Amino acid sequence: MMRLKVTFPHMGYNWVCFKTLVEGMGAEAFLPDYNNVKQLDPGLKHSPEWICFPFKVTLGNFIAALEDGCKVIAMATDCGPCRFGFYYAVQERILRDLGYDFEMKYLPQGDLLTFEWVDLLKSLCPDKSLFNNYLVFRTARLFLMKCQLVQDIEKYEGLTRCYEINPGETTQIAKKCVQMVDAANRYYKLRQLRSRIRRMFREIPQRKRNGTLKVGLTGEIHVTLDPFTNHDIKRKLGELGCEVHMDLSLYDWIVHKFHLNFHRKYLEYLSKTHKKIGGLQMDIGGEAYWVLGEYINWAKRGFDGFVHTYPFTCMPEITAKSIITKWYGDRIFDLPPAFFPFDEHAGEAGFVTRLEAYVELLKTRKEKMKNGTRRN
Ligand code: SF4
Repeated sequence: MMRLKVTFPHMGYNWVCFKTLVEGMGAEAFLPDYNNVKQLDPGLKHSPEWICFPFKVTLGNFIAALEDGCKVIAMATDCGPCRFGFYYAVQERILRDLGYDFEMKYLPQGDLLTFEWVDLLKSLCPDKSLFNNYLVFRTARLFLMKCQLVQDIEKYEGLTRCYEINPGETTQIAKKCVQMVDAANRYYKLRQLRSRIRRMFREIPQRKRNGTLKVGLTGEIHVTLDPFTNHDIKRKLGELGCEVHMDLSLYDWIVHKFHLNFHRKYLEYLSKTHKKIGGLQMDIGGEAYWVLGEYINWAKRGFDGFVHTYPFTCMPEITAKSIITKWYGDRIFDLPPAFFPFDEHAGEAGFVTRLEAYVELLKTRKEKMKNGTRRN
């Protein structure tokens, strides 16, 4: 039986989950390198200039894989409402025009309860007998368990880094945990990993400090979860002394698409109930709908800062940005937001300067609030 060699887009630590989807069905996974400048180059060269940055990054992933002899691409798609719904079709067209010979498999993710994803998984399996029904079930379960563990790693990483005594230890532990998740392919092992990962982060030598800033990080999913694309903003915030809270993850997104994400339902409720001041009433694409809910939620919980990351030309996230800017400007919520758009032109030095200035502003504000010297 011939095994298909399948590739998929790179998005932070989530490669371990996508790899399981492919290998669980008996195909061979082609792992693109972590996103980097060299890989991005052909993606930029062959993409329309105005298109969203994640389109260019993922096209770069696919070109690298095809150049390496990979013949099958697996890509998610949606039914709108933004440009993501067209990614796979336009990317396929571009790659064919470039002369590559390959098969594009797409995964409609608009509503995972339609179970269309089952057909995609079965098509990867060289064994066409009834046995592949069992493989689909097993693979989907392993995938979800790994997504949940990656989410845990992302969360602990954000909450721990600002307290670490030995610089860089949190990053090392996070990478080690990702490797452990990748290596485990049994349910019981993955179950054991949950408490082990928690313990590993707890055992990092830490020094608790008074006045640590509590900052929420959210935004468009690809940019927010991929450290290359967002210039490693989570790590930088941690190193600047911020406890970084993040609810966004691949697991969060998948569970939402299975209609089981009650946290997202709550965020939707928050956005909807603020209709009179501009809260969105429906999903307009990207994460905009939930970003507004996150902002309200974190403002109510007394967070010190709110960081919103998104691709430079992303219409839904820019809409969310405008609404949040107005809310803060009109003093409806007292949570200072910072907005970081990213594309291939985003310079590192300017970005770091803005981030440092924002954190300094938050520190001064917190200090003044503590001393009771803050003027409204
Ligand atoms: S969410 Fe934004 S970046 Fe992503 S496809 Fe939609 S418009 Fe483009």
